[in-house]
Amino acid sequence: TAEQKRSDYDLMLHAARFYQHQLKHHSNSKAVIDYIKGRGLSGETAKKFMIGYAPSEWEALCQQLGRNKEQKEQLIELKLASEKSPGRQFDFFRDRLMFPIRDKRGRVIAFGGRVMQADQGPKYLNSPETRIFHKGFELYGLYEAKQAHKKLEHILIVEGYMDVVALAEQGIEYAVAALGTATTAEHMHTLFRTTDKVICCYDGDRAGRDAAWRALENALPYLADGKSLQFVFLPDGEDPDSLVQKEGKEAFEARLAEADDFSKVLFSKLSQEIDLTKDAGKAKLLSDALPLIEKIPSEFYQENILEHLGRLIGRTREQLSNRVKTPKQQHA
Ligand code: ATP
Ligand code: MN
Ligand code: MN
Ligand code: MN
Repeated sequence: TAEQKRSDYDLMLHAARFYQHQLKHHSNSKAVIDYIKGRGLSGETAKKFMIGYAPSEWEALCQQLGRNKEQKEQLIELKLASEKSPGRQFDFFRDRLMFPIRDKRGRVIAFGGRVMQADQGPKYLNSPETRIFHKGFELYGLYEAKQAHKKLEHILIVEGYMDVVALAEQGIEYAVAALGTATTAEHMHTLFRTTDKVICCYDGDRAGRDAAWRALENALPYLADGKSLQFVFLPDGEDPDSLVQKEGKEAFEARLAEADDFSKVLFSKLSQEIDLTKDAGKAKLLSDALPLIEKIPSEFYQENILEHLGRLIGRTREQLSNRVKTPKQQHA
């Protein structure tokens, strides 16, 4: 045909617009909008994040955006549709609240979809990886945060879509989320290229605390001079969304101002199951800490941490310095 081939980004944008349109015009619209309002979100915030609704019908998107064989194949390749049997496609996202995921240039590259009632399958469904979506690299909300600030003094990293959006609703427009995965080294690389200060704020539960530790390990290679990494631990059962709605922007930002430095978190985690009154405990702490310290490119941070370590195990900094290989490569 003479028709120009639709680019992947075009298709994703059209899908996002389709879901946005359905939010207002589908027969379920009222229930969906009630859900959004019930979660404390305004229409303005919904619009800023291009939040939409994937209809409950099996082929709504396919009918709209899969008009010929080529288009249908593209829908399947981008995981917006699945194939039941050859030639029979159906929508991948159905009856879900839709969060378009944009890359840092603002192009829609994937979606997250949330059910709005219990027992309708997994709470969140995320686009699988595609040729334009690489999970471990993308951060939900980064584009929107960059739009909101000329320069990002700091970035808050949280677990979920709703956390990012609820924080933005309350005027905290510098939060991003890793996409249902751990915060990877690539995420940390991206974050520290964008800002000097990263604050991690995961859910107040076991999974959240585990996520914080993995984030810390993955961030160490990017802690050059001038970069800072901090952690906020939330009360049990809270996440940034629930807490910011309860206590508001100021109280929430007061928590951020009191965040723990990464070195404090590092030592409290490493000393957790260690008896530092015994030599064996001290030796264990030393052998656990050294490989982590070696990953840090900043000599300033290394020195500080060695001093701290020395105090815990009864060694001078000089005694410890000899045992650390300073990494020569600097990550920017
Ligand atoms: P909500 O407040 O809407 O319940 P949440 O973000 O607090 O959402 P969590 O259970 O804390 O939900 O999960 C954090 C993030 O992990 C989600 O935003 C989502 O990206 C991902 N996630 C959660 N549950 C699932 C799931 N069943 N399948 C895939 N990803 C999930
Ligand atoms: Mn959680
Ligand atoms: Mn949560
Ligand atoms: Mn939540």
